[in-house]
Amino acid sequence: MRFELNLSKMPAWQDDEKVQYILKADDDFIRLNQLIGRQITIEFLNEKHCSNCGNKFADLFRMGFCKNCFFTAPQAGESIIRPELSQAHLGIEDRDLDFEKSYQLQEHIVYLANGGDLKVGVTRAKQMQNRWIDQGASEAIVLARTENRFQAGEMEVALKGLMGDKTPWRKMLKNEIPTIDLVKEKLKVKESLSAEMQQFFAAGEDEVYQFNYPVEEWPTKISTLNLDKEPKAEAVLKGIRGQYLILQGGLVFNIRAHTGFRVSFAFA
Ligand SMILES: [Zn+2]
Repeated sequence: MRFELNLSKMPAWQDDEKVQYILKADDDFIRLNQLIGRQITIEFLNEKHCSNCGNKFADLFRMGFCKNCFFTAPQAGESIIRPELSQAHLGIEDRDLDFEKSYQLQEHIVYLANGGDLKVGVTRAKQMQNRWIDQGASEAIVLARTENRFQAGEMEVALKGLMGDKTPWRKMLKNEIPTIDLVKEKLKVKESLSAEMQQFFAAGEDEVYQFNYPVEEWPTKISTLNLDKEPKAEAVLKGIRGQYLILQGGLVFNIRAHTGFRVSFAFA
């Protein structure tokens, strides 16, 4: 079977057992879990498409956007990456106030997650589980619930002195996950919040969400596949975690870092 597609984030969800992944091809959905243990081939077709305007470019600028979209599209606005810069709650436009209002003025959460280290993060409440899966977290807990993106961003900034805000992806992909009691950490963090921020603390919300990724064998050594340098890879798919395909021999492929790359994807 051979498909063509512009790479984009894999939709994922957890069923009773494991996280399930889909790769969206031009006209099909490929259930990736079924391909674990099988040989796959990924080949770069030398075309890149902006994930916002869809146009074809020799190269994309950042995050799957062409240069123009990166600097003008509301989907690439500063507050997307840095929630504390959100200003829609003040009625101030960055690029498109309607978009920014609908995106920022909704319930957000601040969370603690363990994907190799304790980290803090921010996301929209309705998609928290997707976010945790995309980051490859083993476990996560809701720390606070806020009315908008700005409040969550402020809290995250306040907590960055206590812990990181990035997933240590090599540890995550090798499944080197320390034991961390997230309920305990949450209570510790509460102490360091200002009185103003404590109003958002998610008291009593102590469910620890756990994620089980479909990986047959964890790699002990990791190397990364970069399609700009090496346009074709052929190997057995060993598993999937976060937005990474883990191939035989510890070669890992970051789908998000290749957003917009046009590829063929084949399997026997
Ligand atoms: Zn574009």
